[in-house]
Amino acid sequence: MSFPRTRNVLMRDPNITLERPEQRKSSPSPRARFQNAIGGATVSCEEAYPGIEFLPRSSWLAWLRDKPPQCVHLQPGAQWSAKLLPDTLYLRGERSATRESIRPEVLLCRDCLVETLRRELSAYSGHVVAFEPDAETLSQYFFLALPDFERAGVMPEVGRAIEERVRQTGQRCETCSEPAKWGWFSRAEIPSLDAVDRIRSAQGAWFCAEHAADRICRAFPAIPEANLLYVNLPYGEAGAYVWI
Ligand SMILES: [Zn+2]
Ligand SMILES: [Zn+2]
Repeated sequence: MSFPRTRNVLMRDPNITLERPEQRKSSPSPRARFQNAIGGATVSCEEAYPGIEFLPRSSWLAWLRDKPPQCVHLQPGAQWSAKLLPDTLYLRGERSATRESIRPEVLLCRDCLVETLRRELSAYSGHVVAFEPDAETLSQYFFLALPDFERAGVMPEVGRAIEERVRQTGQRCETCSEPAKWGWFSRAEIPSLDAVDRIRSAQGAWFCAEHAADRICRAFPAIPEANLLYVNLPYGEAGAYVWI
């Protein structure tokens, strides 16, 4: 198990509680209701996720069950699903936004998640290290910017070791030889984020943003079954993708 001290704060269900319609004093506009239901999102699914088709949300039942919009490929009992909260961070259990323009939380199949990650990761300009998750125990895969490590509950010595690797320079992309911005650490190299010495010393594989996106997106199809409760997208100037 990774991140023993973060587990309690980060394992809270990211779901928000919906106010029931009958509890409202006045009837909100459909748009306000929609924004409330998706956690304060300020942009629509169509704007946030071009090319992904979502199930129509015409049923009140869906509102009452507090379900985020989901892509058309997800069937009941699907072996693979991921809740993407692109601009949300959990700091000591409190939900906060990572940028002003907030994209809605959505439930995606593996292909739609990979497509979205590929587009977003390859466009991120900061330095990152990413850790290959353990397929058996993975429940959340999320980005933390360097200044948020401590507030997110990362142990200080682990945070310092990761930061050293994020700030490491001079590597070249394995695929195209451009200056590398991402370090990727396999489970064989770093099986657990408790292993501070291995975080410091592991060789890692280094990539430009575009080829790092390829590498990370290959990791998910290799996991046969998953129900990810929380995935977010990179923000800030530099950070790490970690998992619990
Ligand atoms: Zn899909
Ligand atoms: Zn490259």
